[in-house]
Formats: sequence, C-alpha cells, structure tokens
Amino acid sequence: MNRVYNFSAGPSQLPESVLRRASEEMLDYHGSGQSVMEMSHRSKTFQEIIDGAEALLREVMGIPENYKVLFLQGGASSQFAMIPYNLLNGSGKADYVLTGQWATKAYKEAARYGDARAIASSKDKTFSYIPKLDPKTFTPDADYFYICMNNTIYGTKYHTLPETGKVPLIADISSCICSEPLDVTKFGLLFAGAQKNLAPAGLTIVIVREDLLGHARPDTPTMFNYVTHAENGSMFNTPPCWCIYICKLVLEWIRDEIGGLKEMQKRNVAKAQLLYDFLDQSKLFRGTVVPEDRSLMNVPFVTDDDALNKKFVAEAEADGMVNLKGHRTVGGMRASIYNAMPYAGVEKLVAFMERFEKENG
Ligand SMILES: *Cc1c(COP(=O)(O)O)cnc(C)c1O
Repeated sequence: MNRVYNFSAGPSQLPESVLRRASEEMLDYHGSGQSVMEMSHRSKTFQEIIDGAEALLREVMGIPENYKVLFLQGGASSQFAMIPYNLLNGSGKADYVLTGQWATKAYKEAARYGDARAIASSKDKTFSYIPKLDPKTFTPDADYFYICMNNTIYGTKYHTLPETGKVPLIADISSCICSEPLDVTKFGLLFAGAQKNLAPAGLTIVIVREDLLGHARPDTPTMFNYVTHAENGSMFNTPPCWCIYICKLVLEWIRDEIGGLKEMQKRNVAKAQLLYDFLDQSKLFRGTVVPEDRSLMNVPFVTDDDALNKKFVAEAEADGMVNLKGHRTVGGMRASIYNAMPYAGVEKLVAFMERFEKENG
C-alpha cells in the first residue's frame, strides 16, 4: 500500500487511524452484524452514533446549550439559500463581505430573497486580503451580518471578527471548522460542509442560536426550515448516516489523539509556518496573500512562469503529493493543509520545493 499526501481543497485527506477504524468496523459494527452504511437510521445503534457525534462536537468546539447542532445534507452551498429563507425575514436586509467566490455566491443567493448588501469587497486584488471593516458602514437593523471565515480558494482568513453588536454574525466555516478554538458565542449561526476537515462529502453541519429559529419566511420549503431539523434531532428524513459516523470518529481523533482544538491549532500553526517561512525566503516561489490575512488551511503560491507551475504540479504528483494545482482564478499552486495533513506531509512538500528551486531557479 502506498498512500499519497493529498493537498486537495476538498474532499480532502482523512486521518489514517480513522480510516483504519472504519475499515475494521466495516462488516460488523459493534456486533450489529452490519456496517453503518446499511443499518436503519431509526435503530438504537445509529441513534447512539448521531448522539455521540453531536456530544463530541459540542465538547470539542465548546458549543453552549442555547445552540442547536444540525446534521444536514445539500452541502455548504444549500446554506446560501437556507440562511435567507430562515433569517432574512425581519428588516429584510443583510450585510455581506465579499472575500471570494463562496462569499459572493452566498451574497447573490441572498439577493434573490431580500436586500442583501455587499458592504465591502477585496475583489480589486483577486481577494488576496480581508477588507478592513468600518462598523459605520454596517446596516444597523440588518437581520444578520455574513462572512466567509476562511477563504478556501484565495487562502485568506479573518484573524479578528467584525463587531456587529446586536446583529447576528453568520460565518461559513467550511474550510476551517475545528482547525483551532473558536468562540461560538460570538456567532448567531455557523455552518460548514464537512468534507474539508471532518468527514466525507455529504454532511453539512449547522450550529445555530436557538432564538434565531422560528422566523422563517412563510414560503420556506419544509426541508429548508431549520426548525424541521431542530425538532427532529436531524432525523426528519434519512440523515447522511455514514458521514455522521465518520465525523464522530474524526472528532474522537481530535479529542483523544490530538488532545483538543488548542493542540490542533498548535499543529496547524507549525505546518503553516513551515510553508510560509519557506515561501517568504524563496526567490522562485511566493505566496499570493498579504501576510496578516494568511489562512492556516489553504496556502496558494506561484512562480511567475506558468510552464514552471505546470511542471511543479506534475513532478510533485509523480513524487506522491497530489492535488497541488491552484484554483483557475489564482493560477499556480495551492496546498490545502487541513487537520489530517501530517507535519511530515508539509516537510516533504517544502523539501521538494527546495529541490525544485535549485533545479529550476
Ligand atoms: C467548499 C466550500 C463551500 C462549498 O461547499 P459544498 O459543500 O460543496 O457546497 C462553501 N464555502 C466554503 C468556504 C468552502 O470551502
């Protein structure tokens, strides 16, 4: 067996111990005589799995009692509509900060349902920074204020949160969930597609403050109403059982093997630092993001020669490091170094970059 280091932006690498455990439990989960993929979601065995996953997420992230945790489908992209359906129903106004494609998609979707306002953008420089926000430009009676916390494509991240006062702050944390501690009480709603840091594709996690529930637009489809899922323990219909099970194993890995989110953060900082330090002294490669807004999870970098970028991606793949091609809007390369990427994977990448620079610089 020869496993590669997968630098994909998502779906992405999962911890090897989780994959081993899942394979051990594949044919006969805890004496049930079946796999989690096959069992009834109404069974006692599965109920324990989903309850365990929720309890672990609450413990690992420190989610207070007055927040609901929902396990949904439809990807993070469905939340772009679900959020306005459920929340854009007071003043009908909402503020959006455009820091990349995901934030822009969310903004455009919300504009179909109400007065969505793009109050700041970093599009002028290919989203290579987080705009400085001035609370005087915020809409005081907005139903919510929306940010994309970590911008997967462009490699930027909010290091300080906007001060939105009474207006609930909503964040897309798809590509940074559980990468470091996060004060959940600062937010009205958090959501994440799980396929970057927590599980296979197919599971979307929503963490929502209870007082924000119950205000959905009257035309909200039943499946798009948070209340439907909150009242039914995420089992109004068949949940993504297998993904929830893997999510539980990943959360156990974070808690028991890593030691929680503070430790996770230390590891992620060490990995990112290794790569950024190399980029900052390199004469061939450079990072594309302003240093103060750099992401811990997604690191875009380029050489100034397209042919060389192509060569790099191809030679890295031949050496067991896959999915390093950058997003087409940035070009060059992007290394996504999510929780499950070991330090050794980044060391191997940096050693390869050093060699590549000597041979091609
Ligand atoms: C990947 C990603 C999405 C899209 O997720 P889907 O589950 O594919 O809809 C949205 N936002 C961010 C920040 C992402 O990284």
